[in-house]
Amino acid sequence: MNKALRQAIIAGNWKMNKTRPEAKALIEELKPMVKDAACGVVICVPYTNLETALELTKGTNIKVGAENCHWAKSGAFTGEISADMLAEMGVEYVIIGHSERRQYFGETDQTVNQRVRAALDAGLKVILCVGELLEQRETGITEEIVGMQTKAALLGVSAEELGRIVIAYEPVWAIGTGKTATAEQANEVNHYIRTVVAKLYGQAAADGMTIQYGGSMNAKNADELLAQPDVDGGLIGGASLKAPDFTTIVNAASK
Ligand code: PEP
Repeated sequence: MNKALRQAIIAGNWKMNKTRPEAKALIEELKPMVKDAACGVVICVPYTNLETALELTKGTNIKVGAENCHWAKSGAFTGEISADMLAEMGVEYVIIGHSERRQYFGETDQTVNQRVRAALDAGLKVILCVGELLEQRETGITEEIVGMQTKAALLGVSAEELGRIVIAYEPVWAIGTGKTATAEQANEVNHYIRTVVAKLYGQAAADGMTIQYGGSMNAKNADELLAQPDVDGGLIGGASLKAPDFTTIVNAASK
């Protein structure tokens, strides 16, 4: 396993936070702070902030992502946004399968796969979230759950398309709870995900794949988590809403 084969990416997931003026202020603060990052920097923002984010990050090293997309190309799906709509705006990334969508909005492995397909067809890059519940970890079935989520999400994804997918291992019990997986736990599951990808697409594809950790990563624990051989960056919720904290994480991934 060679970490130098793949790009570390730090992606912020703003969730349902920030009005447009608040988004503008945060992006303006962040831009100069992360301009020399040696890792990829992405901010995934609410739909209402996409245009603002795209405008303000033009010509910078910050890429913009959405937090979800629908699987249909268009049609009678009131309140939804298609992958084509995002791509047309210039959005580059989309988070798919976040545990909050699985928990509160009926997201299943099947709809995750449908959204992944739609996003790839539209030319987007995907941040695919997988992760186990606390009781699943305690029962000892973390690998089965995460392996199954990964395989189901990648159904029908070609080897060439895999290059546009980043996987974020996000143990559900660690998201927004302040409980972080230990660096060893994060590395162990990230490594397991890489073996699943290797079985599906071959070792070279797996070695080149960015696999992030997410779940209460912050300015204090980022160094240790990001130093792990199979942790290629992070998906950051709470800490992405504060420019200095997000920058500390970006700097940790740039080492
Ligand atoms: C997330 O929303 O993907 C996340 C990891 O949140 P937090 O960092 O707040 O745990």
